[in-house]
Amino acid sequence: MQAIVKEKRAPGLTVKSVPKPSPGPGEVLIAVRHAGVCGTDLHIADWNPWAQGRINPPIVVGHEFAGEIESVGDGVTGLRAGHLVTAEGHIVCGHCLQCRTGNSHICQNTRIIGVDRDGAFAEYITMPATNVLTLDGGTIPTEVGAIMDPMGNAFHTVLTAEIPGSTVFIVGCGPIGCFAVGIARAAGATKVIASDVNPKRLALAATMGAHVTINAKTDDVVKTVLAETDEEGADVVCEMSGVPSALHQAFAAVRMGGRVQLLGIPDGAVPMDFANEIIFKGITVYGVIGRKMYQTWHQMRRFLIGGQFDPRPVITHKFPLAKINDALAAIRSGDAGKVILEIV
Ligand SMILES: [Zn+2]
Ligand SMILES: [Zn+2]
Repeated sequence: MQAIVKEKRAPGLTVKSVPKPSPGPGEVLIAVRHAGVCGTDLHIADWNPWAQGRINPPIVVGHEFAGEIESVGDGVTGLRAGHLVTAEGHIVCGHCLQCRTGNSHICQNTRIIGVDRDGAFAEYITMPATNVLTLDGGTIPTEVGAIMDPMGNAFHTVLTAEIPGSTVFIVGCGPIGCFAVGIARAAGATKVIASDVNPKRLALAATMGAHVTINAKTDDVVKTVLAETDEEGADVVCEMSGVPSALHQAFAAVRMGGRVQLLGIPDGAVPMDFANEIIFKGITVYGVIGRKMYQTWHQMRRFLIGGQFDPRPVITHKFPLAKINDALAAIRSGDAGKVILEIV
């Protein structure tokens, strides 16, 4: 089968033929139809310091996907050939403290597809049946199923805060930030404010339902949020960028007693004024990693099936598998929404 492989401990990805996997006990074999490309794949391609410390080539990359089950291994029940599915890409141990207390998204022994084992940028992938979620017979199309991983990050970020009747400030309008805008609207936020430095991304945030967009390059972000919230600050701030200046804006723009959800990952340490940015404001800070297993997935499925939320405007680029370098270039440009691969 064709696959996109990280072959060597050096920059670059290779499109090549590799053996088709077969499902072991408890696993399913999935023919991949659509796959999402994200910043993590870019880091692996570019062989940045994180990738150098984590990735062991050769490995098939890619962790966001949806497709059709082709066959199932021994002991698999409830799933069968022909089912359209996606999957949680974090494979967890099931026995650590976190797994046993309903917090598998922070399992200490997490292995990620396309990072720690072969991934989804291929014609086929095997997955543990426990990680697989059906797309309700295609009610959720595979192009949407393929981005339920990053969309799930946005659902996790937004829905772990109290949204109905709240003012919500989304910091950073990359694909996950744009998803978060639409989810906050669907979940009943009264006012959604979004900031970014890129006008194209701000336009996408407006399409997804942002009431107010702020260009952080030209406008005073904190002043605008205060003006839009009766000088109180936003009830909930979702920080999706990881940019140090934006992180400080997030803490400055949250109201006293509000909540800051942190998803964006800074490159290194960010100095903070803990007393004034957190303690004296009495705020709650929540770190978002992955998707709650499987609460986030079930909430997301219901929002999608119920028609409350449609992520498709955020998908701006589609490429065939062999054009992975064009897909990565689109992400690198900074103008793209979600970029996906079509594997048919
Ligand atoms: Zn991703
Ligand atoms: Zn665990």
